Amino acid sequence: MTETRFADAQWFTEVATECGSAFSLEIRAKVHEQQTPFQKIEVWETKRWGYLMVIDGFVMLSSRDNFLYHEMMAHVPLFTHLDPRHVLIIGGGDCGTLREVLRHPQVETAWQVDIDEGVTRASEKFFPELCESNNDPRARLHFEDGIKWVKEGEAESVDVIIVDSTDPIGPAEGLFTEAFYRDCLKMLRPGGLLVQQSESPLLHMQILKEMHHAMRGAGYADVRTYQFPQPVYPSGWWSATMARKGRVIDSFREAEALAAPEKFGTKYYTADIHRAAFAMPAFFRREIG
Ligand code: SAM
Repeated sequence: MTETRFADAQWFTEVATECGSAFSLEIRAKVHEQQTPFQKIEVWETKRWGYLMVIDGFVMLSSRDNFLYHEMMAHVPLFTHLDPRHVLIIGGGDCGTLREVLRHPQVETAWQVDIDEGVTRASEKFFPELCESNNDPRARLHFEDGIKWVKEGEAESVDVIIVDSTDPIGPAEGLFTEAFYRDCLKMLRPGGLLVQQSESPLLHMQILKEMHHAMRGAGYADVRTYQFPQPVYPSGWWSATMARKGRVIDSFREAEALAAPEKFGTKYYTADIHRAAFAMPAFFRREIG
């Protein structure tokens, strides 16, 4: 019976060969396809998940669930930092993280450095709600390689760096290295935070281990992973890893975070979720400490 229903429908499927699993969404049509100098961008119209952006065959975001990822990538570091004025986003070309960052009134400048302008142009067309802060006078959009940007960046010029990148292959491979983390450390002011999407705790422990090792090796005083659901990514269980320059990750502007659902209109992020997200499972603690 299930097979009959499947036979009538059209599906987009991302196969995660190394994990022995696949994820599918029922689709109406492909509405965009573009080969840029860096990657292949596709957008599908789905039946129940809005639009779906795919880069080189890997799901990036859907209209329906991107709020989980974008809120957790932006609000966790921004409410952890005591005074986040200058924020640098590496990648993030769909502009959803930028929109969340700019909800914070103390942010004076938010640079978004994505290697591929095609991602932002496609997002403006199919995810206009994510791009609604692109004309905020505090936003600075640049289309350059984030690795080069950080290597040449001014020392102690930013408070928070958010690495909202594709998986560690292709142009994003160098964003998961000790050399890159060291360049980020140089750009951060004392007490500054680096946050990077760090894949699935269930499927990608090796990547997580290497990230912790490389961030510590680069000289950060503290490194911690937090988790959140993300249905469109392999396993549906995702993480971000945060590292701090010069001090442990012990701050939380809780009173302001408590007001986020009402003040910022967050759909997932609350102060309770912020705290709970850092509670990692036993197997994770055994492997990483
Ligand atoms: N949330 C997504 C995920 O975890 O799969 C990431 C979304 S965002 C669209 C990823 C962005 O990283 C893409 O727009 C891609 O162009 C960008 N990117 C990849 N490598 C990059 C690099 N070296 N410098 C700057 N941006 C990069």
